[in-house]
Amino acid sequence: MSLDPAKLFLAAIYRWPVLARRHCVVCDRNVGGFLPYRGGSKGLPPAMAALGIVGSDVDHFECPRCGAHDRLRHLFLYLDRAGVFDRMRGARILHGAPEIALATRIEAQAPSRYVQCDLFPSRPGIERVDLTAMPFDDASFDVVIANHMLEHVGDLPAALREIGRVLAPGGMGILQTPYVPMLEATIDDAGVQSDRARLQLYGQEDHVRLFGRDIFHTFARHSGLVSKVATHDELLPDIDAYRYAVNRHEPLFLFEKSA
Ligand SMILES: [Zn+2]
Repeated sequence: MSLDPAKLFLAAIYRWPVLARRHCVVCDRNVGGFLPYRGGSKGLPPAMAALGIVGSDVDHFECPRCGAHDRLRHLFLYLDRAGVFDRMRGARILHGAPEIALATRIEAQAPSRYVQCDLFPSRPGIERVDLTAMPFDDASFDVVIANHMLEHVGDLPAALREIGRVLAPGGMGILQTPYVPMLEATIDDAGVQSDRARLQLYGQEDHVRLFGRDIFHTFARHSGLVSKVATHDELLPDIDAYRYAVNRHEPLFLFEKSA
């Protein structure tokens, strides 16, 4: 959590149990609210607001208790309900850009092999791995998790091919990625190189494209995996998106390798 005084004040208020109207599924605690990201939706680039990007819930972003972001809270609910956590028991897991809370939960499932990797490792125990050229054998993992990574990768077809390659038959890829349902086609223009232009056009300075609704077909085509994408209403109809502060428009990006 940053040391912004306004944010610290809000965090103190939201931790107050009397206001506990919301629940963080990651730390399993009731909280008064969640902290906004960069000033919330009012701080969104105008194009992102107009296009209705489905990504983080910037108004209810960060848990004042454990710091978990909304996309991680949603992923916890999804992985639990879709049986992916159960599937991890004794399995081989590859976890890209690993969130500490998710890593802890995965380790509790006692996988037979658990590799945490990132292009720029942020702590010990994370292997330096380029998603577009992974140093792993074919079919060496049962679950691959790439949570909000593919909007950052330059060579998307290579990354998707690699994810499909390292997954074993029957394996699952969890590929959460922001996208715009309104857009027919992904926007990805090689001329867009400045931070300012990427922020306005793609929603963040370090995003290299803005996915449209062709994302599901693109992911399946390049990875060779089968789309098992499911919506919040399909998988989590009993989960109140307000109380859990998750984006109910964000689906579970689940892709499976044919057995
Ligand atoms: Zn929490």
